[in-house]
Amino acid sequence: MGQTGCSVLRWLLAQGQQPVLFDSRAQLPAGASQLMAEFDASLPAHLGDFDSELLSQCDVLVVSPGIAVSTPAIAKAAQSGTEIIGDVELFCRADNRPRIAITGSNGKSTVTTLVAQMLNAAGVKAAAIGNIGVPVLDEIGSDAQVVVMELSSFQLETTHSLNADVACCLNVTADHLDRYDSFDHYAATKNRIYDNAKLAIWNRQDGQTKPASQPQRQTSFGLDVSTDPEQWTLRDRQLCLGSQPLMSVDDMAMLGSHNQANALAALACVVDFVDDLAPCLTVLKSFGGLPHRCETVYDQNGVVWVNDSKATNEGATLAALQGLAGSYQGKLILLAGGDGKGSDFCSLCGVLNQQVDELICFGKDAVKLANKRHQARLVNDLEEAVRLASDISCYGDLVLLSPACASLDQFPNYMVRGEQFAQLAKEVSQ
Ligand code: ADP
Repeated sequence: MGQTGCSVLRWLLAQGQQPVLFDSRAQLPAGASQLMAEFDASLPAHLGDFDSELLSQCDVLVVSPGIAVSTPAIAKAAQSGTEIIGDVELFCRADNRPRIAITGSNGKSTVTTLVAQMLNAAGVKAAAIGNIGVPVLDEIGSDAQVVVMELSSFQLETTHSLNADVACCLNVTADHLDRYDSFDHYAATKNRIYDNAKLAIWNRQDGQTKPASQPQRQTSFGLDVSTDPEQWTLRDRQLCLGSQPLMSVDDMAMLGSHNQANALAALACVVDFVDDLAPCLTVLKSFGGLPHRCETVYDQNGVVWVNDSKATNEGATLAALQGLAGSYQGKLILLAGGDGKGSDFCSLCGVLNQQVDELICFGKDAVKLANKRHQARLVNDLEEAVRLASDISCYGDLVLLSPACASLDQFPNYMVRGEQFAQLAKEVSQ
């Protein structure tokens, strides 16, 4: 009964349904009680550990993405014939507007935002919804002509009727391995985005994103050269559709090669909906990226402090390190750590040893991460990490917070972690 659960409750009450509520917390969150008061409804609520008997008595369970469907009581209910769905499935059954669906281990929010901004700039009213922070059911009835849906693997697990007009998987790298049996299981879940899609868009440089079944139409994007007129590509520093140049990456406001791939993916998503790509390209010239993604938060005494707190897995940290290469003259000081969600951090070994000059680790998986480099410094928390970074930094250095881990062991969320980093960076530099 968190944010998603409450949006489901609101929707079901508005449809005249009387659902039973379950929450693993000891108290029902205030949002649910407020909704019941608003709709003058008195619904049974079961709190604490999930009871498989009670769950099995339900015809349908609408499970929030924060709850694993493999939770024994839920898995048992599924075995006994209870249908398991999520809020996105309810949305897809009720909403008939064209939908563009975007998933991937990294870049989802960036591309979802770009796609919505590009469509709006081209005169097509679009709303960005889903994992980006706007529960999908809250968007039903809005005046948007097209919905742009950011979907996590957890949301895809409980969605069966997506049938997207456009479906795009940006990349698949290790993440959430604490909630999947294996990497293959995680990758297969991401691939569900293409089920019954009219147009599938995949990343040529990441074979895991290729549709497993044959879609109606498909196209790919990548930073490798392709002359196929249907594919999105990069040539001579130009974003191109086949051999047709569209704009120079030097005119893009976002930094890093991963964002060039994101730009190509976004263009591929919108091209069928707009008459002219020119307004979409203008968005790329002005959109500098979302907060907490490789964002320069302080630049003082020749030391640049970059907040990439949204890097909650190793793929994102790898992209940040590769993307920032060459943008500083002195040392690169990396602050990383937190909850690695079962990751072994192996893909970071090369960059940690070759590109990073100082590694400072904090949080739950600090030691695991520190072991991936020949030398690292261990501290208790972010504050100690920032103070140490300040002590060892000098003119020309770049201090990067790109944790490769979730924040939940020491922070309420990645935003608080990023804000604390920015605040501390200012404090220690004065
Ligand atoms: P998501 O919504 O999938 O978490 P974001 O757009 O919020 O993605 O970015 C999350 C992190 O991933 C940031 O650290 C960002 O710099 C990094 N990132 C963005 N795009 C990519 C990409 N295409 N490949 C790898 N990392 C990326």
